[in-house]
Parts: sequence; structure tokens; C-alpha cells
Amino acid sequence: MPLNKQKIKEKLEKERDLLVEEMKDMGKLNPETGEWEAQPEAQDFPESDQNDQADRFEDFESRSSMIKDLSNRLNNILFALKNINKASFGRCEVCGKDIELARMEANPAAKTCKKHLES
Ligand SMILES: [Zn+2]
Repeated sequence: MPLNKQKIKEKLEKERDLLVEEMKDMGKLNPETGEWEAQPEAQDFPESDQNDQADRFEDFESRSSMIKDLSNRLNNILFALKNINKASFGRCEVCGKDIELARMEANPAAKTCKKHLES
């Protein structure tokens, strides 16, 4: 059975929108670099002690790594959307065989078959 590209495209677009929404909660897109950056929480307590500042820094660090994670996923999805009409779409980029349908349904941005799962 051939891939239902229309269905996959819709799924990818939905995932893309969800990811962007999630990322908007934590940071913003830097128009100069085109990269997402974590936003520190507003410093509305100038008298806060050092513990507070350390907490805030940790919070910022974890936001940064979450944003990085989300933007990797977003890039995969954008890549898949860009290539969805190419003949190579849905084929494993290691062995060139068709990626299992179940895998494509679970992760439409997959670039490899189950055997060559990206780490
Ligand atoms: Zn493969």
C-alpha cells in the first residue's frame, strides 16, 4: 500500500503548529539568526537574593535545552514537509528501502527504517 502523503502532510503540519505553540511559551524566534532562543523570566524583583537568581538561571538553562530539543524536532518536520513530494520521501536514508508504514504513521518525519533507527 502506498503512503498516504496527504494524510502525512496534514499530520506533519499539525505537529509543526503544536511545536511552534510550545516554543512560543518558552522563548522566541530571533529574526536575525532564525533560531529559537529561550526567554529569561522577567526580572521584576530587583531585590531578590542570590538563591532566587540561581533558580532563575537554572530555569533558563532548562528552557534553553528544551527549546533546542523542540527546534530539532521542528527542523525534522520542516525537512519532511519540504521533501514530501520527492520520490525519496518515505525511504530509509541508510538502505534506501521503504520505511515501514507503521513507523511513518507514528513518526512521519522519520528518515530511516526500523533497522536503521537514528539514535
Ligand atoms: Zn534502512
